[in-house]
Amino acid sequence: MIIGVLKEEADTRVALTPDVVKKLTEHNQILIEAGAGGNTYIPDAEYEAAGATISQRNDVISKSTLLLSIRPPAEDILSKLPQGASVISSFRPYEDATVPEKLSKFPINVFSMDMMPRITMAQDKDVLSSMASMAGYRAVLEAATHLPRYFPMLTTAAGSIPPAKVLILGAGVAGLQAIATAKRLGSVVEAFDTRAAVREEVQSLGAKFVEVEGSRDDKAAGGYAVEQTEEYKQKQRELIFDRASKSDVIITTALLRGKKAPILITKEMVEAMKPGSVIVDLAAAGGGNCELTQNDATIDHHGITIIGDSTLEAKMPMHASLLFAKNVFNFLKVLLKEGELQLDMENQLIRGTCIVQGGKNMYEVK
Ligand code: NAD
Repeated sequence: MIIGVLKEEADTRVALTPDVVKKLTEHNQILIEAGAGGNTYIPDAEYEAAGATISQRNDVISKSTLLLSIRPPAEDILSKLPQGASVISSFRPYEDATVPEKLSKFPINVFSMDMMPRITMAQDKDVLSSMASMAGYRAVLEAATHLPRYFPMLTTAAGSIPPAKVLILGAGVAGLQAIATAKRLGSVVEAFDTRAAVREEVQSLGAKFVEVEGSRDDKAAGGYAVEQTEEYKQKQRELIFDRASKSDVIITTALLRGKKAPILITKEMVEAMKPGSVIVDLAAAGGGNCELTQNDATIDHHGITIIGDSTLEAKMPMHASLLFAKNVFNFLKVLLKEGELQLDMENQLIRGTCIVQGGKNMYEVK
């Protein structure tokens, strides 16, 4: 394979790091666009030392038989790839079902890393988890820097400071990392999730699990949350209202795959919070868990800071790139054999992620 990586046009991250390049050079040629690692502080020389060839953008596009990208490459890039080339990125087809249709205009294979099945053997290939974990960590740091008070309890000569109260809504990968980080910073943490199965995980991190009885769990949803009944949602609203008004920080991470994010924090709840409090909404791109969230913006509503950002991991491009590259490398160990593409559709990792095969839309048949 000729594996190509371009400088991302709308992201700080880069799809391959030198340590992974080294592992791929035995059977593949690696082309890296000059300056691709710029935002990640990886100089071209480091890629070269790892065995890659630094190339001009047009050369990478016209020669790559496998293009790796953090963000989906633009159509004019896809149209210039060699016939039969493959592309690996995160296309989020569950958010827009027309995506695979548009991609199938091109005679290529497309693998969407965010379609990786959530099974044990796929954990080391799961970019959603790698990025969510980083976002959860960073959300707490963002909250701490915007909060006009301390996180930890402190006893000073001038008097005692009580710990900040942090409420985490959604205790999946991002939420659990947010809990761990908020605990490390010394705050008092409570968390809520519709999946009662996460109770022990929340408690083992030292946080309190806030529970609403009567939730629906759906084993067929592959580990993802499902929509709840109206009665449950009403009980949940009352409980969150009570907890939110007592919190200094709320971090929301609740997502429903393929659907708009559930509104968990209403305008009324925001206005009941203490002035100076901070909300970090990691579901901003999916419509937000807070009614007032604006995607990719930080706003002030009656003294409450609301940060709407779903790609906080991009603020830590070094480790985000490293983890993405390692996840892709682990997938390539399945997809390539001695540098040749093995399109084994019986393999559930390949079948799960392949949304276009040779210009044929494979997503609709799932
Ligand atoms: P996610 O990003 O889809 O959602 C985040 C959290 O929000 C989830 O815990 C979800 O239950 C919760 N949520 C949804 N609606 C809610 C609501 N109305 N109120 C409160 N909370 C709500 O989930 P995720 O973090 O990507 O992980 C989902 C599950 O998949 C977890 O159990 C995780 O451990 C599992 N997982 C498995 C693998 C694997 O085995 N390869 C990899 C990653 C995640």
